[in-house]
Amino acid sequence: MVEKRFADSPGKIGDFDLPVTREQALAQLDDFVSERLPLFGTYQDAMRSGEPFLFHSVLSGPLNLHRLRPLEVVEAALRNESAPLNALEGFTRQIIGWREFVRGIYWQRMPHYAEENALDADLPMPRFYWTGHTDMRCLADAIGHTIDHAYAHHIERLMVLGLFALLLGVRPYDVHRWHMSMFWDAIDWVSLPNTLGMSQHGDGGIVGTKPYAASGNYINRMSDHCRHCRFDPKLSVGEDACPFTTLYWNFLDKHRRRFASNVRMKNQYSNLARKDGAELRAIRRQAATIVESVT
Ligand SMILES: Cc1cc2nc3c(=O)[nH]c(=O)nc-3n(C[C@H](O)[C@H](O)[C@H](O)COP(=O)(O)OP(=O)(O)OC[C@H]3O[C@@H](n4cnc5c(N)ncnc54)[C@H](O)[C@@H]3O)c2cc1C
Ligand code: SF4
Repeated sequence: MVEKRFADSPGKIGDFDLPVTREQALAQLDDFVSERLPLFGTYQDAMRSGEPFLFHSVLSGPLNLHRLRPLEVVEAALRNESAPLNALEGFTRQIIGWREFVRGIYWQRMPHYAEENALDADLPMPRFYWTGHTDMRCLADAIGHTIDHAYAHHIERLMVLGLFALLLGVRPYDVHRWHMSMFWDAIDWVSLPNTLGMSQHGDGGIVGTKPYAASGNYINRMSDHCRHCRFDPKLSVGEDACPFTTLYWNFLDKHRRRFASNVRMKNQYSNLARKDGAELRAIRRQAATIVESVT
């Protein structure tokens, strides 16, 4: 019925295996605690081509849909006495730390929170976010996971999908709307502080005191994507330059007044200061071409 009636909508349902009943949710929790939790802490920030889930729990859906209670999930994890401390601490912190924190932000700041746009970002969502058709391997992979599974793990959401939109200058609320359309766990109170706040810095520093801005070098360190990509994460100018790297320097340059005195960004601005005028002009020109080609 979904395939027939919503044939033009993004997403695929061929491999649908999300837990939708209480029994399925409990089975998913058991499977995570015994199989993946022990390595959660070590690999939670890693990305690998063609691996959408790695050591993540894929429990946000049942939690947000009230198939599981946060406390029972944390208690189940803590019962695994063979899991190392970095796994138990890392996982518990996501639920009683981040999840509760973003819920608090939402209820304290809404309804005006949804309209915040501290960086005056005004571009629409790039068209390829609906299809995954791009030469940028990291983005093609993360969008592919989203289309196939309505899921991408946290670092793909923050440091690939969100990062590119931030560096490009997409309207934060549009990023939230895209997220709401594509992810199985997206509900307003969780998505908004994460997209508009954490990933787009649209709230001007409520969720995070600095923007999650990084170049292609970060993605290269955390994944195997760049090895298979036609771009070079080290380059910011020229035909082989990585668009993340070009847009990263352009972002720092563009928002110099706002962020140059932020102590948490001191190193980033010291590195920018090493670029001479000619290089900066070339970066600005190349950034403008990227913006034109993707929006
Ligand atoms: C741009 C962006 C948008 C996001 N939108 C959503 C959303 O709409 N719904 C949603 O549930 N999560 C959202 N998150 C948070 C997080 O990415 C997902 O909860 C997580 O990826 C879900 O996969 P998992 O269950 O395998 O999580 P795991 O990595 O296994 O983490 C365990 C659990 O911790 C909780 N958690 C971890 N980080 C967060 C966080 N930042 N905020 C809230 N809960 C967290 C989730 O309940 C998750 O199931 C978003 C993050 C970003 C950067
Ligand atoms: S080179 Fe740039 S675009 Fe290509 S995978 Fe690496 S970070 Fe992504």
